[in-house]
Amino acid sequence: MSDYSHYNISTKCVQGGYTPGNGEPRQIPIIQSTTFKYATSEEMGKLFDLEESGYFYTRLQNPTNDMVAAKICELEGGTAAMLTSSGQAANFYAIFNIATCGDHVVASSTIYGGTYNLFHVTMQKMGISFTFVDPDCTEEELNEAFQPNTKAVFGETIANPALTVLDIEKFARAAHAHGVPLILDNTFATPVNCRPFEWGCDIVTHSTTKYMDGHGAGVGGCIVDSGRFNWLAYKDKFPGLTTPDDSYHGVTYAEKFGLEGAFITKCTAQLMRDFGSIQSPQNAFLLNLGLESLHVRIPRHCENGLAVASFLKDHPKVSFVIYPGLEGDKYYELARKYMPNGTCGVVSFGFAGGRTAAETFMKHLRLAAIETHVADARTCCLHPASATHRQMNDQELAAAGITPDLVRMSCGLEDAQDLIADIRQALEQV
Ligand SMILES: *Cc1c(COP(=O)(O)O)cnc(C)c1O
Repeated sequence: MSDYSHYNISTKCVQGGYTPGNGEPRQIPIIQSTTFKYATSEEMGKLFDLEESGYFYTRLQNPTNDMVAAKICELEGGTAAMLTSSGQAANFYAIFNIATCGDHVVASSTIYGGTYNLFHVTMQKMGISFTFVDPDCTEEELNEAFQPNTKAVFGETIANPALTVLDIEKFARAAHAHGVPLILDNTFATPVNCRPFEWGCDIVTHSTTKYMDGHGAGVGGCIVDSGRFNWLAYKDKFPGLTTPDDSYHGVTYAEKFGLEGAFITKCTAQLMRDFGSIQSPQNAFLLNLGLESLHVRIPRHCENGLAVASFLKDHPKVSFVIYPGLEGDKYYELARKYMPNGTCGVVSFGFAGGRTAAETFMKHLRLAAIETHVADARTCCLHPASATHRQMNDQELAAAGITPDLVRMSCGLEDAQDLIADIRQALEQV
């Protein structure tokens, strides 16, 4: 594989991850095969023992996926990456790779509803406990959330749909002071607008379903490792990485694969093997098409987001607008620091007329469709309190930064004036 690290992000989007040799396909090949052939059992045995790297079964790894993962790895500035079948799988794997029954994780309270449910309900059943902290808490409050069995800190660079911007350096300092990695879901900002590793984050996850794919075509996820967290310095905390794995003939991941490869190799060898949440090579191919234009699309999403947010802010029927790219927003300064080129295309806002006004407004939109989706080329919107965050009570909703009248609008790539005209006419019906 060629080294793209010295290129700018746009070049990495277009050409990263795959460099064809002479006479090889220009576009990444879709390796539509469940299995891979070898001449001798001995050769295959070496793959099973992780003695040599290679492909044997697409439940664990596939070459198409790895080319696309390599591109995202370059975009984030990491050392290793893997694709997963969804963003949910990526966040589950990223935590479960280092936390097990009896362990504890500190997480920001304003994370995506699906992730909150995964942590608060499903992973809790697996014996992993979570403490949710207000992302705006003081460093002191943050430090108080840690326990002796804490194994990771988790947050979102821009939270979906609360649009809080995480103070990455504050969270990284607290995580590192307690000898655990900071894992950040960078779905909304994308590496085009924010590269968390540059601010001390250790592991990045993505729902590639969103801007990376960008066309609402394929569900997927990704995990990227910065290679900088020193597992061996906290041997007792992370036995899965620092002691022999009996299911692979006693390999110790952090020693054999180094800090740069241990996390992703373990995640592939154990979690993909046992859970099999692999992305299909077909979807990985579509994801790569999306990535090729990510750097062109993201600025347009941000431009439309800002235009819509600015319009809404001055409208009498709108009670509040949340958009971290808008001057005066609570997170404007943090956004300027961590994502100076723009935030995302998602705008959240509420109505003077409350929940009913929100529902009436949405019903009358023509261009913006009602979907449980964001970050699509086509503008869409959602009422989280009756959809993605439906399972939460009012207190949990408030902690997640959501009010019953909040509408989340994901501005697509259409003409901003057309979007505003559509919003204006729908507001007239309220
Ligand atoms: C959508 C989303 C997820 C979940 O991803 P899926 O691909 O839908 O499984 C996780 N985190 C964030 C921030 C999201 O927006």
